[in-house]
Amino acid sequence: MISDLIKPHIQKLHPYQSARDIYKDVSGILLDANENSFGSVAGDSVSLMNLNRYPDPHQIKLRKALSDYIKVDAEKLFFGVGSDEIIDLLMRLFCSHGKDSVMIVEPTYGMYTTVANIQNIEINSVLLDENFGLNAGKVLTNVSASDRIIFVCSPNNPTGNLLEKNEISLIAEKFKGIVVVDEAYIDFADDDASAVSLINEYKNIVILRTFSKAWGLAAVRCGYAIADEVITSYLFKIKAPYSINVMTEQIILKALSKFEEKNKFVELIVKERDFLITELSKIVFVKNIFPSDANYILIKLDFAKEVQKMMMHRGVIIRDRSTQPLLEDCLRITVGTRAENIKMIEKMIEVCNEISGGQNA
Ligand SMILES: *Cc1c(COP(=O)(O)O)cnc(C)c1O
Repeated sequence: MISDLIKPHIQKLHPYQSARDIYKDVSGILLDANENSFGSVAGDSVSLMNLNRYPDPHQIKLRKALSDYIKVDAEKLFFGVGSDEIIDLLMRLFCSHGKDSVMIVEPTYGMYTTVANIQNIEINSVLLDENFGLNAGKVLTNVSASDRIIFVCSPNNPTGNLLEKNEISLIAEKFKGIVVVDEAYIDFADDDASAVSLINEYKNIVILRTFSKAWGLAAVRCGYAIADEVITSYLFKIKAPYSINVMTEQIILKALSKFEEKNKFVELIVKERDFLITELSKIVFVKNIFPSDANYILIKLDFAKEVQKMMMHRGVIIRDRSTQPLLEDCLRITVGTRAENIKMIEKMIEVCNEISGGQNA
C-alpha cells in the first residue's frame, strides 16, 4: 500500500482546517476567515476580483483546467509554489531525519540535494552511464534499504537527454519506495516521451512538471505533481493552506486556455536549439555537443571555466557545470532568442580566439 510509505506521524496527522475547508461554498456572507469584507487596498491596481478573500485551498478550478488539458483525473493533480515546493513536500511526506535516505541519480538538478540537506536527510547518489543514460540495474543494485525516494529527471538537467521510459518502469516495479520523475522540460521533447502513461500501472511514480520553462511563467512560481490520489491527498494535508494565490490561479487558468501559444514557443525554441547546434559545431574548442530534448544544450569544450568567465565579463552568462560528476569541462547554454544566440556565439568565438591566440577564427 502506498499509504504505508507515508511517515507514520503524517499518517496520523490532523491537517490544519482552514475556513474554506470547513465551509466550501463562497456564495454566502463570509464572516468566518477574518478577511476585509470591504475590499482590498490593491484592488484597482490589479485587474482581479476578490483580492480580499483567501484563495481556494482545494485548487478546484486549476485541477479541472489542467485535467482537461493533460487528460489525467483531477484527483491525481496537485499544484505547488513551483515544482521546487513539491520536491520539498514529497521529502517531508516520505523521509524521516536520521532514519531514511533518498537516492539521487547524478549528474542532475541541484534542488534534490539542497532539499535533502535542509531536511537533514541522507543522500545516496548513483551515476548515470557515461552517455547519461539511465540504467535500472545499476540504480537498483545501488539502492540502500533506507532509501524512500529515487529522484530522476527526464529530460535531465543539465545533460539535456530524455531517460529511457523502460528503465524508469523497471525501477518503479522493483523499488519499494517512491520514484519521482521530474519532467520540467518535457514540453521540449516528443509527445510520447513523458512517463505519465506509467502512473496507472505504478502507483509509486510521481511526475513533476512546471510552468517556469516552456510556458514562460517562471516569475509566477507554479508547478504541479501527477500521482496516485493517495499521494496527492497527503500533499494536500501537509501544504500551506493557501499556497496557491489568486493571481497565480488566474494567470495559470489563462495560460492553460492558450496552450497553443506554449506550443508555438516550443517550436521557436526547438528551431533555435538546432541553430545553436549548427553554430557551436563550427567552434574548434567545442569537443562535444550533447543531444538535447530540452531548452538548453550541454557542451564539452577546452578551457571551459575560462571561456565561461571571459564570456561573463563580456555580458553573456552561461552556466559552468564542470564540477558535477561526469561533466568535466562542460558548460550549459540556455537557448535564447535568435539575437541572443548570435551574440552568444560571437562572444564565444571572440573568447576562444583570445585564449588560443587566433587559431579558432
Ligand atoms: C527549473 C527546474 C525546476 C524548477 O521548477 P519551478 O517550478 O520553477 O520550481 C524543477 N526541476 C528541474 C529539473 C528544473 O530544471
